Amino acid sequence: MSKEIVLKIQELYENWIKDDMTSLDSANIFANLLEYVEETKKDICGKCIPCRDGIPQIENIFRNFEIEKVTKNDLVKLENYVENLRSSKCSVGIDFGKNMEVVLRNNFNDFYRKVR
Ligand code: SF4
Repeated sequence: MSKEIVLKIQELYENWIKDDMTSLDSANIFANLLEYVEETKKDICGKCIPCRDGIPQIENIFRNFEIEKVTKNDLVKLENYVENLRSSKCSVGIDFGKNMEVVLRNNFNDFYRKVR
């Protein structure tokens, strides 16, 4: 997995503001998102709940998507965890959440077509 992909995901929200391309390639999207989670987890300090608890929950849901064992409930939970990240105390959680909001919006079909 390349650092390039992680950097691209890290820049999604900034690119969205600039009206640049913000869709991810569907191929390996969940493996790539999990790589981004791994990188982000290194910076989590544990001081606030939306980031400390939410990002690992998002990771679990991405793993379910990767093995195609997801329900509509997982998707609803994912949307809620992502939205909660707006309340994070610092840019680690806030930026992760903003980038995930762009992913949920622009790669909508990659998520919804796997839901049973
Ligand atoms: S958002 Fe910032 S303060 Fe909150 S747990 Fe993550 S790194 Fe710590």
